[in-house]
Amino acid sequence: MALIVHKYGGTSMGSTERIRSVAQRVAKWARAGHQMIVVPSAMSGETNRLLGLAKELAPPAMGPAALRELDAIAATGEQVSVGLLALALQSQGLEAVSYSGWQVPVRTDSAFTKARIASIEDDRVRADLAAGKVVVITGFQGLDDEGNVTTLGRGGSDTSAVAVAAAMRADECLIYTDVDGVYTTDPRIVPEARRLHTISFEEMLEMASLGSKVLQIRSVEFAGKYRVPLRVLSSFTPWDIPIEVEAKSGTLITFEEDEKMEQAVVSGIAFNRDEAKITVMGVPDRPGIAYQILGPVADANIDIDVIIQNVSHDGKTDFSFTVNRGDYARTIELLKTQVTPVTGAAQVLGDPKICKVSIVGIGMRSHVGVASKMFRTLSEEGINIQMISTSEIKTSVVIDEKYMELAVRALHKVFDLDQPAVAE
Ligand code: ADP
Ligand code: ASP
Ligand code: MG
Repeated sequence: MALIVHKYGGTSMGSTERIRSVAQRVAKWARAGHQMIVVPSAMSGETNRLLGLAKELAPPAMGPAALRELDAIAATGEQVSVGLLALALQSQGLEAVSYSGWQVPVRTDSAFTKARIASIEDDRVRADLAAGKVVVITGFQGLDDEGNVTTLGRGGSDTSAVAVAAAMRADECLIYTDVDGVYTTDPRIVPEARRLHTISFEEMLEMASLGSKVLQIRSVEFAGKYRVPLRVLSSFTPWDIPIEVEAKSGTLITFEEDEKMEQAVVSGIAFNRDEAKITVMGVPDRPGIAYQILGPVADANIDIDVIIQNVSHDGKTDFSFTVNRGDYARTIELLKTQVTPVTGAAQVLGDPKICKVSIVGIGMRSHVGVASKMFRTLSEEGINIQMISTSEIKTSVVIDEKYMELAVRALHKVFDLDQPAVAE
């Protein structure tokens, strides 16, 4: 007997028919003798619908008071899901009970719309499991110290599931979704993308942070910190496939760098259309200038990603960086009002139509020439690189958004990602 956490995403919970299929799958695992906790998302489209309604009525500049309400509204999507799933499980003849984040409770900080889980109280859940019940817990939400409902950021149900698995010391956390694992790149963009049997934790962390939305980045961080065995697999296989087959399907996130994984230099390609580029032109090239520009941006709680500073001419330089597209207008405004007068910058320019394409692989540690192969491939496609950023196991480039698919496809091919890996 093992303690297993299942997480089902929005598409997997998309209709009453889908929820029935989820219940049948969970019942199969429970009947095999496993203790089961299930963490579902809201039904597909529901979170967008709720946030859409909220934004119609919300004030244009949303402060903490408005964001608090946004979270209270968005969290209802998952509350419906857990109730429906518990009923469907009861119809399968199981004892099942649902809990919202505040009932468990899942404790978070108070950063509305992007709260972080601090702890999970497990007494109630343990008692239910001991009594033979299947426990269904909402994804995406928690409770702060003041008793407010919080949400964990889009895609946050992954993080809820892994955090529950960590708190309960589950034997495995299975993330059921609408693809059958983690692919070399998003299979919706590159049909030749190949499913990986395993991916190292470090690579998964990079893929998630660079825009591959199959797992929310914080869920991968949790899995790493608490060593939660994590697998991504499909909820669209027939629910009654044998458990032994299902348990080995999909993609396992591994913590060991075994020889098999050493063979691929580049394991995957991630891309992100959510950023915008900003350039501050003609700033004096003197000590402290980066801080003078970026300090006020950071103080306004705006995340900065790729940064470049050009060589100077006549003591002046240009300074570019990227921010989340949602923060674009706010950043430009802030630079014009607060930074330009202090630095004497000539102009602030912006381009929201950029994207970031990244190659990821732990093999890049031991191989030279990987980045230059990336740059050559892009140049052969006539794609201009605007910015570059690297780490030990990734190289990212910022390019014009209109070339994103072309770049991803070309890189996928040149790094042989459509070919079966030798050792698989
Ligand atoms: P869920 O609702 O189950 O949480 P998501 O839509 O959040 O599902 O994540 C699954 C989607 O992630 C897939 O449908 C796929 O389009 C996308 N995706 C992006 N990159 C990858 C990748 N490398 N491998 C698999 N899927 C990916
Ligand atoms: N329902 C939430 C969202 O759409 C959380 C999740 O699906 O993971 O972002
Ligand atoms: Mg998701």
